[in-house]
Amino acid sequence: MPVSTVACAIAGDVDGAHRCTPSATQRGRSLDQGGESVDIKAATKSYGAVRALDNVTLNVAPREFVSLLGPSGSGKTTLLGILGGFVQPSSGSIHFGGRDVTFLPPHKRDIGVVFQNYALFPHMSVGENVAFPLRARRIAKADWAARVSAALAMVGLSGYEARGIAQLSGGQRQRVALARAMIFEPRLILMDEPLSALDKQLREAMQIELRELHKRIGATIIYVTHDQREALTMSDRVAILKDGRLVQIDRPERLHDHPADSFVASFIGEASLLPVRRIDAGSVALGPAVLKSAREIPDAEALMLAVHSEKLLIANGVADATLNCLTGKVTDIVYQGESLRVFLQLADGTFLSLRQPSHYQASRLLPPVGGELTVTLHPEDTIVVPKARE
Ligand code: ADP
Ligand code: MG
Repeated sequence: MPVSTVACAIAGDVDGAHRCTPSATQRGRSLDQGGESVDIKAATKSYGAVRALDNVTLNVAPREFVSLLGPSGSGKTTLLGILGGFVQPSSGSIHFGGRDVTFLPPHKRDIGVVFQNYALFPHMSVGENVAFPLRARRIAKADWAARVSAALAMVGLSGYEARGIAQLSGGQRQRVALARAMIFEPRLILMDEPLSALDKQLREAMQIELRELHKRIGATIIYVTHDQREALTMSDRVAILKDGRLVQIDRPERLHDHPADSFVASFIGEASLLPVRRIDAGSVALGPAVLKSAREIPDAEALMLAVHSEKLLIANGVADATLNCLTGKVTDIVYQGESLRVFLQLADGTFLSLRQPSHYQASRLLPPVGGELTVTLHPEDTIVVPKARE
């Protein structure tokens, strides 16, 4: 891709009203200089009595891919809007590469933005859509074709310049929106659920594409999603939001295996959460059963055991005193293609679920529904977390 001489400011509104003017302070950047660092300091946004965002502090390194993950209404879009300059924080500040941009308008922020609904112009061709920021920024027409073809090549759409938007599939439209967001080679790209309109297969293919693209272009990406698998697949780190607050930011495997509390544990992976009582630093009581944990049991008032369904293994008659054992009655077996989800009711009435591969060698170990089953949980996989506030 050609080295950019004018920095990007594609501040796209959802309605497609792009306001693009060159930013004097940001001329002459190229991707060789890497992505932008982003520092969010105590950002708060209130709408009347609603705290959409509550004192969020978050530092994103240059070239990092960070996802904002949380249920609907947790403040993801508000935080992205504050980064893009579309939403003014009630308090706190935003810094890009050490510069305070809190009060900078969107078109001066040197960012690319991609939204869920693409915000493409349906009456324009692919090439015209991708070139739109160039037109708005008054770049010489002679330079357009090369820039547009480079941006389209980046997203695997070489030669699509003349196509109409209506002739494209959903995935291709999303790629056009990406190409447009990247045409000025921004050092920071913001994306708000860009794949959620696509069907599952295409979404998963695009996740891998975006991952690859991120490695190639070297921009910092901040990506909003409510889909945990999507966040885990693509991100260097994932920030978990709940009720406007940042609960935890960590690498995907850390979130999965070291959740900060029961909210994160319930949101990442497929976990059953059971109330337990602390016995000492290395063990808890689950009803009458004692479970050992290789991790330090937190000294909190209310504790929950988070049991990921893939971590429970069928005991298969072999006694191993180093493992935790749980016995219950199989209440349901759900066939889900490559695996079976098995629901187990323990003696105290609580439920667990485990996953068993659906192939013969594994599924033959299961009793029929109504039968008794003993499963083991390794102390290394025995995760006890403080119970989150409701
Ligand atoms: P998410 O993107 O995680 O679904 P949002 O950031 O859109 O969440 O919203 C967070 C909270 O702020 C929600 O309770 C939402 O209703 C509220 N909110 C967002 N935007 C506005 C607004 N413009 N006016 C009033 N309340 C808003
Ligand atoms: Mg949202």
